[in-house]
Amino acid sequence: MIKFSYRKKLLLSIVVITLTLSVVGVKFSVIETMTTIIHGEKIPKTKQLNNYTITVDFDPVERILTGEENIKYINTENTSLNALYFHLYPNAFKDEKTTPFEKSEMDLAYPKGFESGYIKVHSIQKNGDPLNYVVMGVGESILKVHLNEPLEVGEKIDLKLDFSVKIPPSCGRFGYGENTVNIANWYPILSVFDKKGWNLEPYYAIGDPFYSDVANYRVEILMPQEYVLGHTGECIKKESIEGKIRWTLEGKNVRDFAMIASERFKVIDDEIDETKIYSYYFNDQFGDLVLGVAKDAVGIFSQTYGEYPYKQLSVAASDFFIGGMEYPNIVFIDESLYKEERKEILEYIVAHEVAHQWWYGVVGNDQVNEAWLDEALTEYSTLLYYEKKYGVKMEEQVYKNLIVRYYNNYRDHKKMKNDCVCRKLNKFKDSQEYQVLVYYKGAMFIKDLRKQLGDETFFQVMKVYFDKYKYKNANTEDFIHVCEKVANKSLRGDFRKWLRYDKE
Ligand SMILES: [Zn+2]
Repeated sequence: MIKFSYRKKLLLSIVVITLTLSVVGVKFSVIETMTTIIHGEKIPKTKQLNNYTITVDFDPVERILTGEENIKYINTENTSLNALYFHLYPNAFKDEKTTPFEKSEMDLAYPKGFESGYIKVHSIQKNGDPLNYVVMGVGESILKVHLNEPLEVGEKIDLKLDFSVKIPPSCGRFGYGENTVNIANWYPILSVFDKKGWNLEPYYAIGDPFYSDVANYRVEILMPQEYVLGHTGECIKKESIEGKIRWTLEGKNVRDFAMIASERFKVIDDEIDETKIYSYYFNDQFGDLVLGVAKDAVGIFSQTYGEYPYKQLSVAASDFFIGGMEYPNIVFIDESLYKEERKEILEYIVAHEVAHQWWYGVVGNDQVNEAWLDEALTEYSTLLYYEKKYGVKMEEQVYKNLIVRYYNNYRDHKKMKNDCVCRKLNKFKDSQEYQVLVYYKGAMFIKDLRKQLGDETFFQVMKVYFDKYKYKNANTEDFIHVCEKVANKSLRGDFRKWLRYDKE
């Protein structure tokens, strides 16, 4: 994500400066031993993926989605499991106390006042038999499903969840405004089981508090025919049914599934390296600009880090007051940025969100405990977009006038007491402190790393990191390991100095 509100003043000053410059049943042990070697690094093949099949009807008056989710789950962990855990993110929107916005943002988040959004799970079955479950955690945002008998390593089960989702009038990731219905973090999604066990963090108001595994998705949604739908994955079928359209969508190797609907969307597309780029917009002039930025960004990052591995990427103007937000194959951009006087900010945010397709989308990480990992790489990638597209001078201007200046300002005027970048979301004072440290100081560190390693080694590091953790989750240790291995020197001291990172 990228918050726009804190950047407003600063970006306006950049605008002035830049304008003048511009121009299946396999046992765990077997799964883990399948490896290939790239750049001298062992690359384990992707584990067997879980499959989500979700079928829902959208009621445009009540703004309710009703349907079912079928999950083919395979235990690829190294232990048997007695229960499975899911996030029920919409439940965070049930109550004003847990809704994931800071107090100061509530008027922007709910311009017509607060109303609840939520998800109700009606029943859960395993291979046709009912299962017991509990809804728990802060804001009832965790679902624990008891499996009756342990699921052994390598075993598979089929789960079916009947559920309904009420979408709230909120201009955030999940909600609706005057123009769009933003359908993100909306269905029961499996929690990640990692070395620490199940990750059951709530939906924090700071950052993008998500962490998920890559899976395969098939989503069918029945909508009134007036709606145009942007989405993760590809549309493989559109059928007319009594004045409605059933959209059948498929997303392979994606870590989440998001959609956005509007009765007013216009859509244009372009292509780069066999990837279709779509721009969903309301304002002709800037829909086109966004398409061009997204296309250039995909070209630059594909060349620099490794090829964008999907057939499509959509950038959608949305009722989203926060700037921009990334999901696999689709990003949401605040539609109020599609204006002449904001077009430089629009470009910056689109480039940032597109970079997230590499850092978050393809290479995932725990965005609650180690948000810096994808955000710093993404913010640095945004600088790289300016460098590759407009030249080093432009990159330097953006770096100095946005990142360094804002970081210094904050450090000096807000009397920063704790400059630790690598910390959990709820350990930041507010979004501003989070942004200054995770984005700006994080990007400063990556820029310094490049300077230290030299271009050849630095870009080799990034390519190996991308290759090795493609469709997986990486952590800070993994990133350090790749840096040190490729550079063939110790860099831990730099991570400690810049991020205040200490291995737990
Ligand atoms: Zn971001």
